[in-house]
Amino acid sequence: MTVDLHLHSIFSDGSDTPERIVEQAAAVGLSAIALTDHDTLEGLPRAAAAASTHGLGFIGGTELSVMWKDQSMHMLVYFLDPEAGPLEDRLAELRDSRAWRNEQIVARLQEIGLDITMDEVSRESGTGVVGRPHFAGVMIAKGYVESVPEAFDRFLAAGRPAYVPRMRLTAAEAIELARKSGAVPVIAHPHTLNLRAEEFATGFRDLVHLGLGGIEAYYGEYTPQMRDRIATICAGLGIVATGGSDYHGRYKPHLQIGTGKGDLRVPDEVFNSLAAAR
Ligand code: AMP
Ligand code: ZN
Ligand code: FE
Ligand code: FE
Repeated sequence: MTVDLHLHSIFSDGSDTPERIVEQAAAVGLSAIALTDHDTLEGLPRAAAAASTHGLGFIGGTELSVMWKDQSMHMLVYFLDPEAGPLEDRLAELRDSRAWRNEQIVARLQEIGLDITMDEVSRESGTGVVGRPHFAGVMIAKGYVESVPEAFDRFLAAGRPAYVPRMRLTAAEAIELARKSGAVPVIAHPHTLNLRAEEFATGFRDLVHLGLGGIEAYYGEYTPQMRDRIATICAGLGIVATGGSDYHGRYKPHLQIGTGKGDLRVPDEVFNSLAAAR
């Protein structure tokens, strides 16, 4: 059987409820899932309850944007208790900084002539953490762009006119806080990092010493060759090769739960290996 350990719901920038995600996971025959909304644990209780009803294994997680070697890295954190812990306490600060950043993005968009208000973006988001895909959703609804990638390429991505950075933990801080919270930190989609080929095998060693538990090898957007290569690097580092689709519902319509673009299979051993890495 297979699993999907990278999923976003309405509690951040996905468009499905936790229950709807679990229903689809069960329908495609997954044995376990992890919910990994950006900077929030709010959806975890509902997802856990639904997973239990459907007899699916469940891991509560989140996805953080961290700084590493002057670049932005995404880090998945698994086995977080939604109640309390050192990382849980820092998430509120990260969400506050995000709210401030979102106001700045609106101001930038207004300056360059796109009539978009924070109210509209909040309405697009509905529940939970507001992210750039919600800005993209409003731009589509108002006819400024035709797709989410176009909104990023023209306005929202780093280096584009409405890009505003937000507060980030360093990779080392995130790893330490995750471990102190009894959770397992994992580098998400490592190919978005700007790394030379040789750095790929050795560049993560320091983070492994700090407590990094895995790297996402089986990723929805990757080719089979990329997945194999990252899994081999994980084996060499003695950490878990994890995986998931990065499903966001209608904000990334090309990705499906469990299968990504169609060819993703995340082996279910990953679930037990991650549990053993706690
Ligand atoms: P935020 O958390 O607000 O910084 O936004 C991050 C979200 O934007 C994540 O869901 C990313 O997958 C998505 N994202 C980042 N860059 C792009 C891009 N170039 N095209 C489409 N989505 C993107
Ligand atoms: Zn997202
Ligand atoms: Fe990510
Ligand atoms: Fe993600």
